[in-house]
Amino acid sequence: MNVLMVSSEAVPFSKSGGLADVLGALSPALVKKGEDVRIFMPMYSFIDHKGFRKGVSYKIPMLASEEEVSTVHRKLDGVEYIGLEHPYFSARKGIYGDTSFTPYPDNGERFMLFAKAAVLYMKASGWYADIVHCHDWTAGLVPFYVKEEGIKAHTVFTIHNLAYQGDFSRFDAVLGGDRLDSSFFYGKAGEERLNMLKAGLESADGITTVSPTYAEEIQTEKYGCGLDWLLRERKDDLKGILNGMDTHEWNSRTDKFFPEHYSVKDLSGKNALKERVLKKYGLIEDPSLPLFTMISRIADQKGYAELLGGNHPVLEELLCQKNFQMLIIGTGDKHYEEKLIDLAARHENLSVKIAFSSETAHEGEGAADFFLMPSRYEPCGLNQMYSLHYGTLPVAHRTGGLADTIIDITEHPDTGTGFLMENLSSEAIIDAVNRAIRFYNEEKENMVKAIRRAMTTDLSWDKSAGEYIELYNSLKNK
Ligand code: ADP
Repeated sequence: MNVLMVSSEAVPFSKSGGLADVLGALSPALVKKGEDVRIFMPMYSFIDHKGFRKGVSYKIPMLASEEEVSTVHRKLDGVEYIGLEHPYFSARKGIYGDTSFTPYPDNGERFMLFAKAAVLYMKASGWYADIVHCHDWTAGLVPFYVKEEGIKAHTVFTIHNLAYQGDFSRFDAVLGGDRLDSSFFYGKAGEERLNMLKAGLESADGITTVSPTYAEEIQTEKYGCGLDWLLRERKDDLKGILNGMDTHEWNSRTDKFFPEHYSVKDLSGKNALKERVLKKYGLIEDPSLPLFTMISRIADQKGYAELLGGNHPVLEELLCQKNFQMLIIGTGDKHYEEKLIDLAARHENLSVKIAFSSETAHEGEGAADFFLMPSRYEPCGLNQMYSLHYGTLPVAHRTGGLADTIIDITEHPDTGTGFLMENLSSEAIIDAVNRAIRFYNEEKENMVKAIRRAMTTDLSWDKSAGEYIELYNSLKNK
């Protein structure tokens, strides 16, 4: 089967979040199962051209002009990466904006051109997909263009995060020069805006999201981001397929950032790593204190409002207990970053690194005893999976992919792999963190058993890739 993935980011060439990881891991897993997979992605200025060869040149009709585009190609792990060359991408510093907080004002037009270019690539190259698999709002118009161009492929649209919908003014909507379906617009009567994610949901043959629990949650008002009614309408075409994780990049036996390694059989390297990391990040050099880590965007979604804001800032209250330490790695909301830096200056059991750093992320995952993930919602989440594989027990909100990957130790002492909070609140965070600390201090043998169970959880892409192929086949046979 020929599969064309369309995504604005893909590891190892571009990444702002989990979406990129999925592209970089699902695609080779599909290739291993015998599929011909190509990833269509923008060729940003920061991508090194080394190893790419020239592809095809063609024109994209837009409202005001015909835009010249071309492709460059590179095969990696059996996957053909197709980079789209256009100044919209090659002449910009970032993916969606120069910084993550200031989107480019012409993102509507940029990704309209991108979506059209992905579809017209098939005409220009003569390679046609059986399945065009579109990821998130930046590829939301692709299913529409596939139909407009009369291409006989089936389309799948995957929601990686429903909160990012790519909505633009009616004025932007005409810049592609197409007559867009009125169902792609959304908002109060008379104020409807083009919503690219909605366009994907309205026109794709199949819809997926990245965990079974999130697939259920987004059909409710609480998690539906205004589109729950549409997802309920399309519930027979909506499937949750849990992401896997990259078990090469995240492997405690071979991790390239560690001098010390460890395995299910021999955990001693994890202790050595903890000692080194405590020292490196200026924490108290006492490995008997449980170490928690958090690695994420510093944003409300990840639980920072509950940890730092409001009238009950939990993190400081917890730090005052002085019976654990914490390493926080992330970048994001400046207001929260400043609060974290201030807290770290006042509490010797907190170390904060404001950076996007793979090395620190790996060290944090490997060295910690617990991984705190109080996300308000989590479509799938990757860090809890890395944590499980690194024997770092997650302490998380029972939502989305967190609910699908973690088994609560309090409820299931013999099979548990972490600690879950039922509802997200300051009290629930305190309760879950303290349950973890008590488990660490009072149930040492059970803790080692839970670590070993966590490390052997099957989180590979193989199973998920099989489920995607099943879906592709069911669409082809429809
Ligand atoms: P989201 O896509 O919502 O940001 P995920 O958990 O799905 O959350 O994926 C986040 C990815 O980005 C993971 O691979 C995580 O390790 C990585 N990441 C997030 N923040 C940092 C950081 N400050 N340094 C290094 N890696 C980070």
